[in-house]
Amino acid sequence: MNKFDIQTFIRPNVAKMKPYSSARDEFKDFDSEMIFLDANENPFETNVNRYPDPQQRKLKSILSKQKNITTDQILLGNGSDEVLDLIFRAFCEPSKDNIITLPPTYGMYSVLANLNDIENREVLLDSDFQPNMDEISRTADTRTKLLFICSPNNPTGNLIASEKILKLLKTFNGLVVIDEAYIDFANEESWITKLHEFPNLIITQTLSKAYGLAGIRLGICYASAEIISVLKRIKPPYNINELTQQSAIEQLQNTVKLKNDIFSLLEEKLILLKALVKVKFVEKVYPTDANFILLKVDNAEKRYTQLLENGIVVRNRSSQPLCENTLRITIGANAENKKLITTLKTFK
Ligand SMILES: *Cc1c(COP(=O)(O)O)cnc(C)c1O
Repeated sequence: MNKFDIQTFIRPNVAKMKPYSSARDEFKDFDSEMIFLDANENPFETNVNRYPDPQQRKLKSILSKQKNITTDQILLGNGSDEVLDLIFRAFCEPSKDNIITLPPTYGMYSVLANLNDIENREVLLDSDFQPNMDEISRTADTRTKLLFICSPNNPTGNLIASEKILKLLKTFNGLVVIDEAYIDFANEESWITKLHEFPNLIITQTLSKAYGLAGIRLGICYASAEIISVLKRIKPPYNINELTQQSAIEQLQNTVKLKNDIFSLLEEKLILLKALVKVKFVEKVYPTDANFILLKVDNAEKRYTQLLENGIVVRNRSSQPLCENTLRITIGANAENKKLITTLKTFK
């Protein structure tokens, strides 16, 4: 890759924008004793009568310590879905630019591409669910702005080989977005440690999976300070509400709970994996580095419906390329997994 210059990747309208700023942004210390008559809020205390901190300083300072990264390399979103949408809007010109995704993968990339009127060039993973490197380089052109790599990948569960990601970071002439929604379950470290080496790297994470906070909607983006400042320019000022900030601040400090949850889910996963390979109509159990398992079965529609009739909801992923007759099953709590296995064993 030629020397990467992020400035040439910013959409012209975005390059001209300044971030929305409220009067309160000018006061560094939110906690000091001030009288706030600037934002037409209700002064009577309810815990949420004030607008939330638009820069989420407290939350970012915790993340910055935990991830060993500066706060200006962090952007927070209303779920990682908002973060991904901001990336599209900052760097892709509607009806002109294109992106590359690697199906079977997370459905939101293509939804967001459609929403933003960006062509999604799909390069199928190979039979081991790894990127097809030659095909990616053949598919990219001068208007290819983003390459999405989901690792561990949803719905297949596997990590994308690090030497392939490394090569793509070095050769792809655009931004490489690594979606690490499931990284806390994986046996590999985050790409965060490589941010200083690759100015074209963007990492997204979420509190929705390992952290057990899907309901608060908090997604995280890590990138160079330059990229983050572009995204900050276009983010809605109060995209992370007060209750979410409070809850995340509280939960993020509870690192023991996080470790224990991950540990017990991984233990459950091992038990499930062993049991699933013995189920008669299960043809293949794919290796997984996530908190879910992809299965190939004899007839996905039939097994999906049978499970539903027994009150168990899983995901039929058969419509995805390379995923014919597959079900994706999330690791549940011990009793739920037991019920799943005993139920599966009763199916004719
Ligand atoms: C679940 C998931 C997310 C999380 O999205 P949020 O909006 O943060 O809940 C992101 N990427 C992938 C691949 C996922 O499976």
